[in-house]
Amino acid sequence: MSTATQIKLAPLPYDESALEPVISARTIGFHYGKHHKAYVEKTNKLAAGTKYADMDLDEIVTNSHARDVEIFNNASQAWNHSFYWKCLSPKPSAPAGRLAKAIEEFGGLEALKNDIASKGAAQFGSGWVWLVEKDGKLAVHKSTNAESPFARGIKCLLTIDVWEHAYYLDYQNERPRHLKAVLDRLINWNFVADNLSK
Ligand code: MN
Repeated sequence: MSTATQIKLAPLPYDESALEPVISARTIGFHYGKHHKAYVEKTNKLAAGTKYADMDLDEIVTNSHARDVEIFNNASQAWNHSFYWKCLSPKPSAPAGRLAKAIEEFGGLEALKNDIASKGAAQFGSGWVWLVEKDGKLAVHKSTNAESPFARGIKCLLTIDVWEHAYYLDYQNERPRHLKAVLDRLINWNFVADNLSK
């Protein structure tokens, strides 16, 4: 009997239509039901019969990073998407507590949202924009394709997918307009706060 771990496609934390009108049910249907699902399935296929077969998703991502490109790309995309869905909410919360304080130290919520939006817009081609915690402070990073700060051992607090499949059906080429709408209307700041180091 195999003891191999199968990576699971976790259920979306809300209905496919819950993020409308900012992100349509059609976009979520393709993005979660096709793209994310395919990354999970491909990861399981590539892990079968290898040293990755008994690892959980976090371990596959960190162990394959900069070593096994194909499984890394799929596993990291599975990880990034699972994290991304949790960063969004149809009932966005406001930053509170320690997070609110850290945002104040960063320069305020508008400055933070502007930095995330501009780095996300500046990411050339496919990738992600991230809010991370580094040396006890907030920082905004961007990454290319499947790369992530998590894969490099950096604490992730928030991400927004800037691959075209995340917004093209709803916004076509207007990535900055999509980023602004998501940042203003969909961020689950409670989840972001929960990700801060204790
Ligand atoms: Mn995506």
